[in-house]
Amino acid sequence: MVERSVPRVAIVGAGFGGLWVAKALAGKPVEVTLIDKNNYHTFFPLLYQVAAAEVDPGDIAHPVRNILRGMKNVRFNLAEIQAVDYDAQLLEAGDLKIPYDYLVLATGSTSAYFGVPGAQEFAFSLRTMQEAISLRNHILCRFETASFEQDPEVRRRMLTFAIVGGGPTGVEFAGALEELIRGPLAKDFPGLDLSEVSVLLLEGTDHLLLNLPERLSAFTLRRLQKMGVEVRLGAMVAEVLPDAVRMKAGEVIPTETIVWTAGVKGNAVDGWGLPVNRAQQIEVMDTLQVAGRPNVYVIGDLAAAQYDGKLLPMLAPVATQQAEAAAENILRQVQGSEPQPFEYTDLGTMAVIGRNAAVANLFGRWSFTGFVAWAMWLGVHLFRLIGFRNRLVVLTNWAWDYLFFERVVRLILP
Ligand SMILES: Cc1cc2nc3c(=O)[nH]c(=O)nc-3n(C[C@H](O)[C@H](O)[C@H](O)COP(=O)(O)OP(=O)(O)OC[C@H]3O[C@@H](n4cnc5c(N)ncnc54)[C@H](O)[C@@H]3O)c2cc1C
Repeated sequence: MVERSVPRVAIVGAGFGGLWVAKALAGKPVEVTLIDKNNYHTFFPLLYQVAAAEVDPGDIAHPVRNILRGMKNVRFNLAEIQAVDYDAQLLEAGDLKIPYDYLVLATGSTSAYFGVPGAQEFAFSLRTMQEAISLRNHILCRFETASFEQDPEVRRRMLTFAIVGGGPTGVEFAGALEELIRGPLAKDFPGLDLSEVSVLLLEGTDHLLLNLPERLSAFTLRRLQKMGVEVRLGAMVAEVLPDAVRMKAGEVIPTETIVWTAGVKGNAVDGWGLPVNRAQQIEVMDTLQVAGRPNVYVIGDLAAAQYDGKLLPMLAPVATQQAEAAAENILRQVQGSEPQPFEYTDLGTMAVIGRNAAVANLFGRWSFTGFVAWAMWLGVHLFRLIGFRNRLVVLTNWAWDYLFFERVVRLILP
């Protein structure tokens, strides 16, 4: 490693991991370059609300340069990294070469399709802002087209929405979609027969929200069913077709909308040339460094990090806590000390199920359901959103929706 008076730290990805490393290194004796292929940071926990026309894309995204203002030793590069040359200590993005002394890889995760034929080609994924916007457009277009379709069979296919995966994203999106349809869209399309519309949630195991206690899973199931979502457990998808989904049991469900929330894997170009696990996450040591590469850290969804013998989940608090630990370890190395193992605090998990209901498991110990959990969910998500303006706009949208059963952002923007 080349020793410089001020070492250079390059961070790839301005998500919950990368951005928090940059914040932790602001004002410290290092030169930081933060790189992202987008010029904004996305608050993913509310992405499903963009797809369900509940909030505008701009309400849950924040320009990175704006966040970095005032951090004199941190600069931003808008670039998509394609490869890492570990020997030359260079990041490569076409003609752009970014040198580093310390590297933090935090490029997050992407959908995993487990080899299900047609899933990648024909299903909608809900992992990026672009995907959420195209899903919203597609759903609103199905209603427009169905409103003048004469054939009832075709109309039913257009108005059947299948969500694959009963994890937090599938559950939250199913609830929000059902409310969009039964509320604002029912009023927008008075000629539409609502009995022709169905929202299906297809889960391969016999549980929703697998990582939460049984009581919360059962509450979620009852609540979704009460809202009108048709939840099918033990429902394994065998194939996704352009206009249908074929189940392992043989049934073919005609639908023009299949939303895939069933699996995630590490998001890296060829694993960034490093050893990966089955979920394409990069193997790291307890210090979050890559074995044999002491100046390379991997954090967030991309890291196969273990704590107490268990693989850590892909959650925002894991990424932000790892970010702080990686930043501290880099500073330790700069000062000639040894990096320390990462200590994880489990803050818990929450999922919202439409208005007035949510489930929350705090610190892995205390469980809440219903209105109390919903109020907690609202508070936590508003607090974690970046930017006062975004908080105010999101709160106003939620209040409007809550009081008037209206969604203000039903624009089809190709
Ligand atoms: C729909 C959805 C809902 C979620 N809900 C919750 C929730 O309620 N609670 C919770 O705790 N967690 C939730 N998560 C998970 C949480 O968002 C992730 O755990 C967290 O974002 C991981 O942070 P990260 O920094 O590893 O990755 P990310 O936040 O995904 O950031 C990765 C960044 O890397 C950039 N990038 C990727 N490839 C490149 C490249 N080649 N070059 C340059 N830049 C690149 C991306 O643009 C992105 O900005 C949700 C995730 C999704 C998708």
